[in-house]
Amino acid sequence: MRAAATMGGGIDIESSFFKIFFQGKELKKILMASSQVLLVTGTHGNEINGPWLFEQWSQNRELINNFGLSLVRQIGNPKALDIGRRYLDFDLNRSFRKDSQDCLTSSNYEVNRAKELCDLYGPNGSNPCSIAIDLHSTTADMGSCLVIYGRRPVDLAFSSLIQTRLGLPIYLHEGDPSQKGFLVESWSCGLVIEIGPVPQGVLEVSIVEKSRIVISASLEVLSMVRDGTAVYPDQVVVHKHLGSIDFPRDHQGKVTACIHPERQGADWELIEKGSPLFMDLNGEIERFDGKDKLAPVFINEAAYAEKQISMSLTNREVWRLEQSWKEELKELLS
Ligand SMILES: [Zn+2]
Repeated sequence: MRAAATMGGGIDIESSFFKIFFQGKELKKILMASSQVLLVTGTHGNEINGPWLFEQWSQNRELINNFGLSLVRQIGNPKALDIGRRYLDFDLNRSFRKDSQDCLTSSNYEVNRAKELCDLYGPNGSNPCSIAIDLHSTTADMGSCLVIYGRRPVDLAFSSLIQTRLGLPIYLHEGDPSQKGFLVESWSCGLVIEIGPVPQGVLEVSIVEKSRIVISASLEVLSMVRDGTAVYPDQVVVHKHLGSIDFPRDHQGKVTACIHPERQGADWELIEKGSPLFMDLNGEIERFDGKDKLAPVFINEAAYAEKQISMSLTNREVWRLEQSWKEELKELLS
């Protein structure tokens, strides 16, 4: 096995022997069996810690144990990474919508790149991967967490194992028609790893190290699922997405108040009806007027300002882990 550059600017870990000695169907059959996990980072070009970790990893294969899994590593948005921008034309992590790929316009770099990744590594791609892990960083002071989309049993089983290992919160993103087309949704199983807080474009050793730990733990638990040695928890704790709140704005759409100091950096902390959310420079406070005991996340995330999101609200729920979820994940890896 060795690392090889791919057309998208990423690194494939696969045997060049296969490429030389096997052709067509035979090659596809072998690669289908061999590539299990697609690891993506740099999906947003201004998140530089993950790409730097991948670069170091490609120079030192011992940096992260692959636990016998075959991996494909990719930089999601290499052009945006080159210029230190989140994206060129559109958020790549909202570009994996089937309808936008079907009516492809060549001028949209991210939609093209999304299609390229699916053509290469998607379930029907030339080198299909079963599972996608998409490594990001956040500017919000919410530490590290996992994000899953919808309620796919395999995602719940996979994330429960990482939660047990590292204690990470799981943000379940669902039911938001304004936010669609996430990368991992194009794979049979997948999750986002968010590491933070770190400003955009800033390389920070603690963020790199945390990224390495979560990637390593994710691969280890997958290898244990494959080997039949994974020990699942009885329950998984999820923070179910309920919706997002915009900043207060004037009639011209300009932001008129900041996140309240009590709320700034208080991600995951439960709020009640009447909890302060925003404050303007006259000391006027806007208070929460919703249900008690909700947990705000991605508070003041820099990247979400353009999406008019000041924070998202979640409901903390404890779900019993179903046997069928575990079986589905095992099936995917066997
Ligand atoms: Zn990101």
